[in-house]
Amino acid sequence: MSRRTAASLATSGEVLRLIRTGEAVTRADLGRVTGLSRPAVQLRVAELLERGLVVERADAPSTGGRPPVRLEFDAAGGVVLVAALGASRTRVAVCDLAGRELAGRDFAIDVEQGPDVVLPLLMDTWDDLLGDRPRSMVKGAGMGVPATVEFAEGRAESARVMASWTGVAIPPVVRERFPVPVLVDNDVNVLAIGEHRGVYPELADLMFVKVSTRIGAGVVAGGEILRGAMGAAGEIGHIPVRDGGGVLCRCGNVDCVDSVASGTALLRDLRAAGKDVKSVGDVTALVRAGDAETMAMVREAGRRIGEVLAGAVNILNPSVLVLGGDVAEAFGPLVSSIREVVYRRSTALATRRLRIEASRLGAGAGISGCAVMVLDHVLSPDAIDDSLARR
Ligand SMILES: [Zn+2]
Repeated sequence: MSRRTAASLATSGEVLRLIRTGEAVTRADLGRVTGLSRPAVQLRVAELLERGLVVERADAPSTGGRPPVRLEFDAAGGVVLVAALGASRTRVAVCDLAGRELAGRDFAIDVEQGPDVVLPLLMDTWDDLLGDRPRSMVKGAGMGVPATVEFAEGRAESARVMASWTGVAIPPVVRERFPVPVLVDNDVNVLAIGEHRGVYPELADLMFVKVSTRIGAGVVAGGEILRGAMGAAGEIGHIPVRDGGGVLCRCGNVDCVDSVASGTALLRDLRAAGKDVKSVGDVTALVRAGDAETMAMVREAGRRIGEVLAGAVNILNPSVLVLGGDVAEAFGPLVSSIREVVYRRSTALATRRLRIEASRLGAGAGISGCAVMVLDHVLSPDAIDDSLARR
């Protein structure tokens, strides 16, 4: 997002940003903050009013004098389509321009059925959820998918669970029906964005770790999601652990933390030890019952994850490490082991103010993260100026 200094000539997009953030709420404020002349402010505000992005509200008259007209960002002036696709659950929603869910639905479809089946059904669901709203209100679409995503192209690569999606560029398919900007990112980045903006907006550096059937992380650095050169930043699942015993990982390497400590690995090892476990829920029951062997294996998994996270904390120095995903949510002993190892193995400076917290939003961070991702894009000063220029 571009940030112009107040000294340069502020565009309509920048004026909208000031109104949205509350930095300026009247025309007089805008003149003061931007240094624009009164006619220039008037012109830009008129454009935004006409586009329905801003509304005027007259304050109650104060004693004596004309009440100032307040300018407010109109969150009802449009909608965005969002979808958080997961291996086990998918939620689809329509949100307003403040990211609030207006209508949503859990989507009962197996993503493994592939894009040819899933994407049309997903778009039908958006259509349904939109109801009577004019389609011109749709400003953008944002999706999280359980795969590494080459972000600029919205192309799913090395899909963790949905092999049939590998190499598929999602935005062009969606744009055939909804001709708006379409942003796609991996599911853990979207969770990191949602948790960051919803719970820790004041912190610039956060790492979100999802421990579920797979292990992955999303990194917010300097207030922005860190994607890396190809969108593969935060793929911590394939960092090897020491003394893993030579477990072959599905990526072809051995002893990746994913292959020795994920929910999938835990279930495999518990079964090998003769436990009758089919799901994370079964393991939770054994942990609750205090089964010693299960507890020991869960703690061991936590130590393995902690070992990898200690290295990540040294590199990234986050203020908060958020642990989410159904495995982290269910297993207290796993989380305690992670905490213990991270605090012991990371450098003193990196952990001096490090907080390790459970995810507060849970799966809900997916939908809000998708909404934030697409809204940041379509409401950015550059995007607003482009769309005004195109008319
Ligand atoms: Zn691997």
